Amino acid sequence: MIIILKKNAPKNEVDDLCKVIESQNIKINEVKGAHTTILGLIGDTHKIDTEAIEAQEIVESVQRVQEPYKGVNRKFHPENTLIDIGNTTIGNGDVAVIAGPCSIETEEQIIDTCMQVKAAGANLLRGGAFKPRTSPYSFQGLGDEGLKLFLKAKKATGLPIVTELMSLAHIDLFADVDIIQVGARNMQNFEMLKELGKCEKPILLKRGLANTIEELLMSAEYIFAGGNTKIILCERGIRTFETQTRNTLDISAIPVLKALTHLPVVVDPSHATGKYELVEPMSMAAVAAGADGLIIEVHNNPQKALCDGAQSLTPKHFGSCMDKCAQIGSVLGKKVGTL
Ligand code: PEP
Ligand code: MN
Repeated sequence: MIIILKKNAPKNEVDDLCKVIESQNIKINEVKGAHTTILGLIGDTHKIDTEAIEAQEIVESVQRVQEPYKGVNRKFHPENTLIDIGNTTIGNGDVAVIAGPCSIETEEQIIDTCMQVKAAGANLLRGGAFKPRTSPYSFQGLGDEGLKLFLKAKKATGLPIVTELMSLAHIDLFADVDIIQVGARNMQNFEMLKELGKCEKPILLKRGLANTIEELLMSAEYIFAGGNTKIILCERGIRTFETQTRNTLDISAIPVLKALTHLPVVVDPSHATGKYELVEPMSMAAVAAGADGLIIEVHNNPQKALCDGAQSLTPKHFGSCMDKCAQIGSVLGKKVGTL
């Protein structure tokens, strides 16, 4: 339920109203916009008498919110959530670009790739140290060692880093990580989401392989309910009957999510397609459809990559992809990366 307050409602009367509501075991999320203040009620609001609230002098209107996600619902927070990381703001209307290899492999590979994506206009770096692989016999990532190498790349470039957390047992290793990624396979690891709700760092939450948009928003709600509102959603393709691409990129998820939630939405065209030649056109489509960011796999030698070489761009191709996306961005008045 949301309560829209009248402009200039006296603070003491608003406080009194909040006290009455909170005494019924309901949490209030107060959002002060430029023109209105909204009280978002989270909890079992069935017993609340909406007419009695609406009758109060300070109340403009009361609306029941049907959707099961409340805190991440745009009705609770009409303005976009902005997430500041270093010099970049995600969600401000521009397109933030996160780029780097699927996995951290060697010091030379991670630093060289990261320096090159920075030069091409990336705002943030990606790289996996703990990898969710379908086969237990595939390269599993360098783990703790990989994180150490990634921190060297962070230092060398001055750019913030994004990397995946596979287990809560590793969280202490993530102290210097700027954004924690929850991968597609962990989107419904509810215990992990609850813990990340208590954490201060922004979370990049990827859509599960076969999850609906509503399920993605419910997973984001777990993090939000714990108190961490710095959540970035990621569309990374979903399973369909189509076999020409690794997954099917759900481009319509971008405007759908932007309407349903105030959280920023980034797109991963690499895992969505599985083919390097599709990354540039899908990146352009994502920018055109209103994405707040892109997360793109780039490797300094894709043919030798230990993971996801077929979908990785060379640094040169990444540069051309950035230029094409910047052209789309300029039509829409959006900056893409640092270009
Ligand atoms: C990744 O980004 O490294 C990754 C494994 O992606 P996803 O969880 O979307 O499959
Ligand atoms: Mn990958």
